[in-house]
Amino acid sequence: MVSRMDFSGDDSSQVSVDTFVDIVVVGSGAGALTSAIYAADQGMSVLVVEKSDKYGGTSAISGGGIWIPNNDHFRKKGGNDSFEKAMTYLNAATAGKVAASRLKAYLDNAPEMVRYLEENTRVRYAVAEKYPDYYPDLPGALAGGRTLDPELYDTSELGEELKNLRAASPTTLLMGKIAWTARDAHKVIAKESGWRLLILWLMLRYKLDFRWRKKSGFRRDRRTALGNSLIASLRRSLMDRDVPLWLNTEFQDFIIDNGRVVGVKVFSNGNTRTVHARKGVIMASGGFEQNQALRDQYLPQPTKVEWSATPAGQNTGAALTAGQSIGAATDLLDWAWWSPTMRVPKEDKARGLFAERAFPGAIIVNGEGKRFVNEAEPYLECGHAMYRDNEKTGGKSIPAWVIFDSHFRFNYAMGPLMPGQIMPDSRLPSLWNKTLYWKAESLEGLAAEIGVDEDGLKETVDRVNQFASTGDDKDFQRGGNIFDRYYGDQNVTPNPCLAPVKKGPFYAMRIEAGDIGTKGGLLTNENAQVVREDGSVIEGLYAIGNASASVMGTSYPGAGSTIGPAMTFGFIAVKSLVKQPAAVTVNRPVEAEEMA
Ligand code: FAD
Repeated sequence: MVSRMDFSGDDSSQVSVDTFVDIVVVGSGAGALTSAIYAADQGMSVLVVEKSDKYGGTSAISGGGIWIPNNDHFRKKGGNDSFEKAMTYLNAATAGKVAASRLKAYLDNAPEMVRYLEENTRVRYAVAEKYPDYYPDLPGALAGGRTLDPELYDTSELGEELKNLRAASPTTLLMGKIAWTARDAHKVIAKESGWRLLILWLMLRYKLDFRWRKKSGFRRDRRTALGNSLIASLRRSLMDRDVPLWLNTEFQDFIIDNGRVVGVKVFSNGNTRTVHARKGVIMASGGFEQNQALRDQYLPQPTKVEWSATPAGQNTGAALTAGQSIGAATDLLDWAWWSPTMRVPKEDKARGLFAERAFPGAIIVNGEGKRFVNEAEPYLECGHAMYRDNEKTGGKSIPAWVIFDSHFRFNYAMGPLMPGQIMPDSRLPSLWNKTLYWKAESLEGLAAEIGVDEDGLKETVDRVNQFASTGDDKDFQRGGNIFDRYYGDQNVTPNPCLAPVKKGPFYAMRIEAGDIGTKGGLLTNENAQVVREDGSVIEGLYAIGNASASVMGTSYPGAGSTIGPAMTFGFIAVKSLVKQPAAVTVNRPVEAEEMA
């Protein structure tokens, strides 16, 4: 059976064995959906194939923030940014590890990509004016304005398609169920004036919407925020354009003709199908963090799939292995978007510790009871420090331990432990005791419980307590810059990131060297085209997001440095694809026998 563009709706079981489109997009994260929308708007026929039974990938459970230097939102609010300033900063952050042409392509296209989406689709962003760049001491850094945060999106617009949306992680929702923007969450975390009222308002809004939940049968907040809002609004915009998205459809390999990628083989509903792509293929199938064998092969040891905060079993390196088999160059394979993570019993993926490391009164120590990092550092640096110290100490920093006292416990969250004033120990699941958290009346007792050196821990705590009184962390300069202080408690002086650890009982929580995705992948040029070692282009093949080697090199310049580039290079890929001649072989009818 042969068909050209023979598909309708979202049900891949309706289609013929062979399908003909201009562009096939593999994966359904934010970059994938952005490119599919833009391609459809350029008059091209597009098909999105997604391996899982849910669309959205890690992007759907993420913060959805995008790092877009020189964006219109900031400018309209009087902000002062420029291409040159951003390039100065990116050059310093990436330290010569990324081709200048790719950095330029990113900075040129990122603001345009956002403008395009906001003018033509249902995607809406607002600027997180107070969110500083992650390396505020580098030249060209800004104290805020480059990170955009998705506005809330009303998912009732998705109709039945809402049930296929990968659900937001409860960690990103207020009380595990109420949608809130990153700007609102920050207001509450930093205890800015009005934070209590804000919580009341969000709760009230949620409660008052009980009718929709009852009528629709969806037991989730109708509004969605962060990455879930981004994916929902992109998905709805795809529906507006009748672009098909096949779920449960797994990319398996490329179809090659004369060295050019002219389509993909996919496995769907028990059948192998062939999708011919006249213009080309965009691989947006994520990294390889969910593949233990590839982790063992490329990432520093120790490393475990279970430490990743990404959806279990999805991103297994399909683009990487298929790309390598046709001669694609790769880069950064020994890097992930590191983040310290925690395993919570009964949860299928780890939870990233993004903000709470900076709260005053929690410290991170290794098995010797010693600090080895500025706890408030960006998560990439914090995770990387775990590896460096683990090597130095002969394996004593993975796992590491977060230590805090009862004052901290009462006032602040740590991972799934909500502040004791809301969730006292008596209300914590008993299963968490000694699997997620350890507790003892004295520091000595705690050290014995978790197998950390007792003297080392006591010495460290004494030293931190001195730093807390002066506000000066002489060892790691915690709270020493505007980024550290973003998640500090503004009511704590002299340093919002430092407080003593002195009032028992004391607590410990185990942290792993986790990730929010891998950073390395297929090497691409400024058009998002995959290249070989000699720099020549593999015609017809594009890679974006974590399927490609990050344009940020080994750095994490600001919140949104993974999704911002994924969407931008998705946009760039389409600009390039529009100009490509159609592959000759896929324009002639192909008999099913020929394809066998
Ligand atoms: P994904 O979004 O994971 O999409 C890949 C898709 O490809 C998946 O749906 C997968 O099922 C599919 N797929 C895989 N293999 C195949 C195959 N063989 N065939 C078909 N489909 C396949 N980054 C930011 O920039 N900003 C943030 O605010 C942010 N917050 C985060 C918060 C959390 C809790 C986490 C875990 C991550 C966060 N990140 C953030 C990181 C970011 O979410 C990811 O780096 C990004 O979403 C990766 O995008 P992607 O398109 O490469 O992959």
